[in-house]
Amino acid sequence: MPLIFITLFAKAQNVNEKQKADWLINNKGYVASVKKSETGKDIILSNGLLKRVFRIQPNIACISYENLSNGQQLLRNVKPEAVLTIDGKKVNVGGLYGQKENAYLLPEWIDSFTANENDFQFKSYTVSEIKPYIKWKQAFWAGNVKNSTGKMLTVNFNSNSLKGIDVAVHYELHDGLPLIVKWLSVINNSDHSVVINKAINEILGLVEEESAVVGTVDQMKKQHGIYVETNYAFNNAMRYDMSDQTTHWKTDSVYTSQVNYNYQTPCLLEVYPEKVTDIKLQPNEAFNSVHTHELLIDSYDRERRGLAIRKMYAAVAPWTTENPIFMHLVSSNDEQVKNAIEQCTSTGYEALILSFGSHCNMEDTTAANIKKWKVLAQLAHQKGIKIGSYSLFSSRRISDKDDVIDPVTHKPDAAALFGNAACMGSNWGLAYINKLKYFMENTGFDIFENDGPYPGDLCASTTHPGHLGLGDSQWKQIELQKGLYHWCSEHGIYVNAPDWYLLDGTNKIALGYREVNFSLSREQQKILNRQNIFDATWEETPSMVWGFVPLTRYQGGGEEAVLEPLGNHLKDYEQLMMQYYGAGVQACYRGPRLYDTDKTKQLVIKTIAWYKKYRDILNSDIIHLRRANGRDWDGIMHVNPNLKQKGLVMLFNPTTEKITRKITIPLYYSGLTTTATVKEKDMAAKQYSLNRNYEIELMVTIEPENYTWLAVE
Ligand SMILES: [Zn+2]
Repeated sequence: MPLIFITLFAKAQNVNEKQKADWLINNKGYVASVKKSETGKDIILSNGLLKRVFRIQPNIACISYENLSNGQQLLRNVKPEAVLTIDGKKVNVGGLYGQKENAYLLPEWIDSFTANENDFQFKSYTVSEIKPYIKWKQAFWAGNVKNSTGKMLTVNFNSNSLKGIDVAVHYELHDGLPLIVKWLSVINNSDHSVVINKAINEILGLVEEESAVVGTVDQMKKQHGIYVETNYAFNNAMRYDMSDQTTHWKTDSVYTSQVNYNYQTPCLLEVYPEKVTDIKLQPNEAFNSVHTHELLIDSYDRERRGLAIRKMYAAVAPWTTENPIFMHLVSSNDEQVKNAIEQCTSTGYEALILSFGSHCNMEDTTAANIKKWKVLAQLAHQKGIKIGSYSLFSSRRISDKDDVIDPVTHKPDAAALFGNAACMGSNWGLAYINKLKYFMENTGFDIFENDGPYPGDLCASTTHPGHLGLGDSQWKQIELQKGLYHWCSEHGIYVNAPDWYLLDGTNKIALGYREVNFSLSREQQKILNRQNIFDATWEETPSMVWGFVPLTRYQGGGEEAVLEPLGNHLKDYEQLMMQYYGAGVQACYRGPRLYDTDKTKQLVIKTIAWYKKYRDILNSDIIHLRRANGRDWDGIMHVNPNLKQKGLVMLFNPTTEKITRKITIPLYYSGLTTTATVKEKDMAAKQYSLNRNYEIELMVTIEPENYTWLAVE
């Protein structure tokens, strides 16, 4: 296109806006910038997808928060940038006053707004490049190896009443994503200690999602245009929304023109960890709040919303795209480990995890134990295989003096989430962390499977060395848990952990399955597993999750539930591998071996070779086609506009009849626009034209109780 036309289009802003690329297909043009407005009164953060504006005089406040993809203005009224309670005194950080109508905010009102001298006052700001949150050392195959880029605005505050207490609020605007990550730091530059009772690091007067004359905060819908996730989440749910501990939707009493008669509309968002009430800061110590990820959502389409969240994880937590091919060995002696290493090498597996019930004890730091596992790790490494082990933290009972103390009854374990739990800040807990680090550092182990990460248990003990009392017990324990995961990530150690520590360095979380289902028949397991994969991957990428395949008996069930002897169940073994590998999801293939007969070995070799051939596309985002119900076909599709292989479709026929179906394949997120070349398995390619909805329709025949796959270019 000649340059003159580009200039003309750029001036016709509305036309230009509509012609911009969909960031979920091509996000390259969306570069973050932080600029002062021409008047000098405002700071503007924008990357073409999101725009957030702050007025900086007479104090600072956010005055606009806009999704540029759909034009939604999220902000209704001005609020402080943060709220701290220090030594029992609540203090706003920034904030402007004088807004009378709180349903909407007009720019012309803002010049008349005033500051309050009791608030933390805006002093200065700096702009810098985003730094990686964790210095992740990549050591395994990964779908994304790049750290996210963008600009960070840091706003510095001080207070007239709290002398020496300095506050900085940080806003990271990422390139290529409608995402701001916000957190605050408190630095105690005074000569005495202070206690932080509460740190609300984000507070937004958001427009309401719905209006109702009668209705409560719980009943009414929350603003859909912003997705909020912090790195303070746990509880074993395996889904962020349920694990979240920091998002609070509240009412806003100054908003008196709202429809709700009793002012109960949930239109005020506050972010803070509820159970953290006493963090003591000594002179020269700093406190850093949770990191709040604010992702603007431009659609009610479930796939589109989920894709945005999945893109966010790949960008801000690139370690979650690491995805080694591993087996879950159950071993009782070293010979079995050596044999498993051999089996991994000869089939293309990349790693071995000594599963629960194996003979590896990571807490045993005696010289003899360290030496024994170091030799085995060296053997594995010589063969190109990574090795790791399992260790249980939560749900264990250690002793009355080391276990969490219930704040109500003051009895150990009385309120522990999993029945029993050691306090991570107890003598035992602190030693546990050091033993694990010592073991991994000195044996050269590459993988850590931490069952029962810290699940949020409070502890009222005042004698545990890792925390002062109840009010800092959750915060200090989480910090210890995160510290271990950061350490692993920085040392190239891969972490499987079944709780939501993904933003703090863990690589994988459980898919979300019912463990006793692995005692059901293989027929049931196949369908249930596909349902579990389908449900988990709306908001999680394939590499973030693991599934499960019991090669030997697990918990219960008879011969019909297990795959051993493998040679007798090749069809089921193949199908289970293909539905996991075909989804890009690693499963814990748990047993003493990967193959028994030569025929089994050839099947594993063939499946792993297929997975490696299509590894890039199989690790790409999933589009949900049809959930398994056992009655008819089901399937998923991977898409990636940045690869030559734009799509890979997995289709299953669970019925006992051969079926032929016309299937609609939605190719919008593959980036294809006019024609698609489709190859079923390794058969001849066929060309299809996309309809105006970016779909193709094709006829597919699938053999009974079988699968097929289609490669799309
Ligand atoms: Zn404790």
